[in-house]
Amino acid sequence: MKSTVVGSFPSEESSPSNFKDKLLNTFGSYDPFKEAIKDSVIAQLDAGVDIISDGQVRGDMVSIFTKYIPGMKIEDGNTFIVSKIRNPTQEISIKDLQYAKNVMKDYYNGNIPEGCGVKGIITGPNTIVHSSRIQSFYKTKEDAIIDLAHSLKHEVDAIARKVKPVYIQIDEPFLSTGMVEMKTAREAIDILKEDLEVPLGMHVCGILDNAFKDLAKFNVDILDMEFAGNNVNLGVLEKNASLLTNKKVGFGCVDSSVNEVDDIEDIENLVVKAIDIVGKDNLILDPDCGLRRAPKDVAFKKLQLMNEIKDKYS
Ligand SMILES: [Zn+2]
Repeated sequence: MKSTVVGSFPSEESSPSNFKDKLLNTFGSYDPFKEAIKDSVIAQLDAGVDIISDGQVRGDMVSIFTKYIPGMKIEDGNTFIVSKIRNPTQEISIKDLQYAKNVMKDYYNGNIPEGCGVKGIITGPNTIVHSSRIQSFYKTKEDAIIDLAHSLKHEVDAIARKVKPVYIQIDEPFLSTGMVEMKTAREAIDILKEDLEVPLGMHVCGILDNAFKDLAKFNVDILDMEFAGNNVNLGVLEKNASLLTNKKVGFGCVDSSVNEVDDIEDIENLVVKAIDIVGKDNLILDPDCGLRRAPKDVAFKKLQLMNEIKDKYS
């Protein structure tokens, strides 16, 4: 049994403090987020996480991608689709992931343990389009979703090729809302998955009683869902687990919606049930969702308790 995070970790921008950073800042090349990435990677590793993220410290999950995608425009924090969506103007997350991986390598004195490593994370085309407003060019959200999937595919392939992550996760929180057309959603994920040489995961948050049967049909290797923050999803999993052929379950077992440390018995009870339902070889433990909003010490403690339970049952 391995553990991971959904993605985000509490962080703050740093300001240049030493001479070298101040010099870099003068030339506009100081990176205020680099320290935050390092801090978040070390915190995840200290807490015992096997498959780490770069902490997603650079901003919100939509604009972090859309600002590099022609056809999309950000204004006052809102994203608009203004013309045909084309390929990203540059690689978006490669440098941060490579940096995170190097920090991890140093942490382990050069040898990252088997099955451990970094995970690439992309906000899914369905979620991005549904949180944007179409201003022109597209008549339907579905057409925009397919074009965006082709655009994001470049980032997915670049991560696979250059970072060699343990897997790549597509974040699609909107798939539980009932607003998304599932046929198009599946087609979009197929585009991202095509010829991909690393496993593909999909994270969906929210209550899944209506969406689960559809989600089980998606062509992904890992389906990541929340089980700590609501008392519906575990029953849904129990009833429908047989639909998940050839899929691992990313099992959210600490509650990311409350900013206090979970009860370790609650985590343990959930994990024991999950082992019973899908088997421990099919489980990857993680929090319900990103931990961005939690205080740092609380986020750390949540991950630590989760890994205590992982070690107990591995
Ligand atoms: Zn989520």
